[in-house]
Amino acid sequence: MTVGRENLLSINGLRLKQGERILLVEDSVALSTLLTQRLEEETGATVTRCGSLSAARKNIAEGTFLLALTGLNLPDAPNGEILDMLLQEEIPTIVFTAMFDADTRERCTRKKIVDYIVKDGTKTVDKVVQTVSRILANSAHKILVVDDARAARSELFEILSRQNFHVLEARSGRQALEILTSDETIDLVITDHHMADMDGYELTRRIRQTRNSEQLRIIGISSSSDRLLSASFLKAGASDFIYRPFVHEELKCRIDNNVETLTQLNHLRRLAEQDYLTGLANRRHFFSTMRQHGRDATQGSIALLDIDHFKTVNDTYGHDAGDAVLQAISLVMADMCIPAKHMPARIGGEEFAICLSQLDAFQAHSFCEELRKRIEERVIEVGNRSISATISIGVVEFEPGETFENQLNAADQLLYLAKANGRNRVYSTLTIPEAINAIASAGG
Ligand code: GH3
Ligand code: MG
Ligand code: MG
Repeated sequence: MTVGRENLLSINGLRLKQGERILLVEDSVALSTLLTQRLEEETGATVTRCGSLSAARKNIAEGTFLLALTGLNLPDAPNGEILDMLLQEEIPTIVFTAMFDADTRERCTRKKIVDYIVKDGTKTVDKVVQTVSRILANSAHKILVVDDARAARSELFEILSRQNFHVLEARSGRQALEILTSDETIDLVITDHHMADMDGYELTRRIRQTRNSEQLRIIGISSSSDRLLSASFLKAGASDFIYRPFVHEELKCRIDNNVETLTQLNHLRRLAEQDYLTGLANRRHFFSTMRQHGRDATQGSIALLDIDHFKTVNDTYGHDAGDAVLQAISLVMADMCIPAKHMPARIGGEEFAICLSQLDAFQAHSFCEELRKRIEERVIEVGNRSISATISIGVVEFEPGETFENQLNAADQLLYLAKANGRNRVYSTLTIPEAINAIASAGG
């Protein structure tokens, strides 16, 4: 996994794995052509298109589909028979319809479809693509449904699963708290109010002691007619509130809005934490994480890296080639780093740092040596040129009780020695104890 590819995936939202298929049933050739093209381009799906019930049957017999998109009326099925057939085949279905009235709505919501889209001239294609992208992206979100009534839980479970969410269930407030403690990836909680062990209000209050609304959304639910209930839920930290019985569209829209808010917040956070050129952590994010790290006093090492004679690369091949070299070296770093354990960052123009959690002096030194070798061996193709580059590294193991600034300073002095002694080398406490003594005595 490289940082570059990771960025692409996360910024564009979830994409289908190559080869996953969507069935499009639409008798207007113009609309069908346009939809196929946009869906394949923007979601990565393979679209199989047909214009009649009989052709749809044939396609379903021959392959499996993740999702179906269909109009309601077809030349050989004028009364919505296509919908019954798709639901019988248990294919999650999105309906688009030109005609929309109370009767059509009732037919659509009763039949447990994923969504319906009312055709709206030039906006239709955009709406379909948006809806499909959203449904596909939903699989990245985990929702915890909390209700002590089994039937109520099952109803929500079914509605949310149909929207392609990953759904978990809890029978009580206490169980919900246990699940949330063991699974930090849950990003939405939907909780009933009246529960035997702990009401939804209290559950919300307790969840908010550890997770804020930028990390986790909470939606309260109740069939009570007390309007003050929603107010107190929101005051306790809930993001939203929905009354039972559900109006399907309202439920869906409120959930979608909350998920969308989280997605946007995550996207903004990533942008604020990333270096724009390389996709690595930027200086500010690295420093604030490391200061936090220092307070937690965990075991590990810190490496400082600087590209050798990088000015010459710029002078010889131009600034754009220099940028390409920075990107290539960042990819080598990211490929060697284990996400959530090692944190590589670009902290200056051609200066990098890596936090190597859990690696002692010996392990950190061999990690850096391997990285140095991989970069030295890497041939970077820019246009028709082949460029190679080397780096110098200073690496130190965390000293308990020492500030981050002092550790960084120690790594910097080792880096300076690596440069002074010929570049393209790794200096650490292991390789040159005498250098460390010199640093220690110089520092008093
Ligand atoms: P040394 O081996 O001593 O580190 O020599 P050096 O040439 O790598 O170091 P110096 O600090 O003299 O030069 C760093 C160069 O990095 C100068 C600057 O133009 C270049 N640089 C800094 N940021 C960027 C960038 O974002 N893109 C490009 N292409 N060059 C950059
Ligand atoms: Mg430098
Ligand atoms: Mg340099």
